[in-house]
Amino acid sequence: MEDIRIKSKADYQAAYQESVDHPEQFWAKIADTFDWKKPYDKVLEWEFETPDIKWFQGGQINMAENCLDRYLETQPDKTAILWEPNDPNDDNIAWSYKELHHRVCKFANVLKANGIEKGDRVCIYMPMVPHLAVALLACTRIGAIHSVVFAGFSAQSLADRINDSSCKIVLTTDGSFRGNKEIDIKGIVDEGVSKTSSVEKVIVLKRTEKFINMKEGRDVWWDDEMEKVDANCPAEPMDAEDPLFILYTSGSTGKPKGVVHTTAGYMVSTYYTFLNVFQYEDEDVYWCTADIGWITGHSYIVYGPLLAGATTLMFEGIPTWPDAGRFWAIVDKYQVNQLYTAPTAIRSLMANGLEPVARYSLNSLKVIGSVGEPINEEAWKWYHTYIGKGKCPLVDTWWQTENGSILISPIPHVTDIRPMYATNPLPGVQPIILDKDGNEITEPHEEGLLCMKFPWPSIVRTLYGDHDRMRNTYFSTFKGYYFSGDAAKRDNKGRYRIIGRVDDVINVSGHRLGTAELEDAINEHPWVVESAVVGFPHDIKGQGIYAYIITERDIDSQQAFKDEINETVRKEIGPIAKPDIIQVVPGLPKTRSGKIMRRILRKIAEGDISTLGDTSTLLNPDIVDDIVEEATTVN
Ligand code: ATP
Ligand code: MG
Repeated sequence: MEDIRIKSKADYQAAYQESVDHPEQFWAKIADTFDWKKPYDKVLEWEFETPDIKWFQGGQINMAENCLDRYLETQPDKTAILWEPNDPNDDNIAWSYKELHHRVCKFANVLKANGIEKGDRVCIYMPMVPHLAVALLACTRIGAIHSVVFAGFSAQSLADRINDSSCKIVLTTDGSFRGNKEIDIKGIVDEGVSKTSSVEKVIVLKRTEKFINMKEGRDVWWDDEMEKVDANCPAEPMDAEDPLFILYTSGSTGKPKGVVHTTAGYMVSTYYTFLNVFQYEDEDVYWCTADIGWITGHSYIVYGPLLAGATTLMFEGIPTWPDAGRFWAIVDKYQVNQLYTAPTAIRSLMANGLEPVARYSLNSLKVIGSVGEPINEEAWKWYHTYIGKGKCPLVDTWWQTENGSILISPIPHVTDIRPMYATNPLPGVQPIILDKDGNEITEPHEEGLLCMKFPWPSIVRTLYGDHDRMRNTYFSTFKGYYFSGDAAKRDNKGRYRIIGRVDDVINVSGHRLGTAELEDAINEHPWVVESAVVGFPHDIKGQGIYAYIITERDIDSQQAFKDEINETVRKEIGPIAKPDIIQVVPGLPKTRSGKIMRRILRKIAEGDISTLGDTSTLLNPDIVDDIVEEATTVN
């Protein structure tokens, strides 16, 4: 296959320029490395008004076929999926391309035998077992649209997502293992499905082997069904713009949105970005620690790596069990070459000190990556120094569920690395920073709203069943642009720094302060474990600063501590940034993907606790009551 990896700065500049001057020609070259069932007639047609975006019209292609069948001759025995179980003493799994293909074809036939046809919605609520990847690929093989719901969400959240896209079937397991906990997955599914009317079948994979109820006529066992079918399943020809999957965003900003990605464009973008951002080479073992319930897992555990013929590692457990060295043990065990994780994981491991790291060599690592939120300076340096040993490029990758693939990121050994900067747009990505009136900001260091001028192949096509919401959310803030909802600025070399969500920027007496920057300053204090800052209406300043802080130890004198925090912030940023209110808290409300749910903290700071909204997707819903009880009411 043609090598599409960028290898030098000159390559990058040439590729970038071509992608702007001749986007159709640029992306066609990448698309043409795939096996098409029918060639496309037109690379791109688009407008951001409706919006209406079509890539590779007229073409027909199949995702699973390009992930698997095209490697059956060239590398049938190469490991496609490596799986590390929750318990390090249990057996691991390695499935070759040939074996994965066999399982996917069979399970695709299971879906068909259970009434699933092209276009039907399939809800997948499964822990991180390799069969989860089989489930995704089997859906795409027959053109069913999968909707993966992270198997940590509540029964109600599951029901809401099933109902929103009327899923016909649910794929699940009896239970799951996470650290020293056993979770009753099937119980949650039973409760969730009882609040829906579209589900006809539930297919259950055995994982924990604990006793569960199987509902007569509805529930069937995965393994029994596999026995009944053969492994012959031709891949369905899919139109380039046929929906590939729906994925609901995590909901840190309100009612979940059913982001719809379509077939060919998503394939092209995930394949291209995977190879370039991680500089994957043939014999490498690549590991992304995300859960497949998030877009990162879809694009960079399953689809991107398999399209590229890579070996992708899946991990069932958690970073801190049996101890805080688990990630590093896995890196050494499989000689992982590329590691892709999130700031929240890095921070939690950092808090455990260096001893768990020092036990391992980590010498196999070549590239380390971060995604999910702005990575603060302390975490960046720790990750780069102690995990990357100062030699591995750290790729801080910025993108969103709605983007399908990484948009802004360094390319290892090719473009610059700068701490806390996502740096350069990848080829094909045309960012622009606008002020609130829609004027372009060209001055370096001036912050504004991050938008995109031009579509890339894996841009969101619609929100399931609600195209108006799609237009209103992303395309009506600024006419003719995709609006990301994030604030950003550029340095004098044009490298991008993501400040955070626009809602997370606090305007104090006309000074715009990013919450990440404020939190970085607060975290400088040695007793601070983690902090979260939000704005609240302030009569004089417009907005005031409310800081929630988790401390390492009990604090005797709250006032002395608060004075010290104020002093730290004054030194780091300036007196303008001193918090108006500081509340020491036992924990912070977090989404299941580890992001702080600031929407809730903002409500509490505003004294508006009657409308906290849906807190059921929180990792730790109880913490909200604790915080409310001790909150300083402003109004
Ligand atoms: P919702 O849209 O439902 O509130 P979400 O935005 O958390 O959920 P995702 O699409 O998973 O769901 O996350 C995308 C967001 O994560 C980005 O808009 C940005 O705020 C943040 N983000 C992701 N990667 C980075 C990064 N490298 N640097 C800074 N922020 C990042
Ligand atoms: Mg979002």
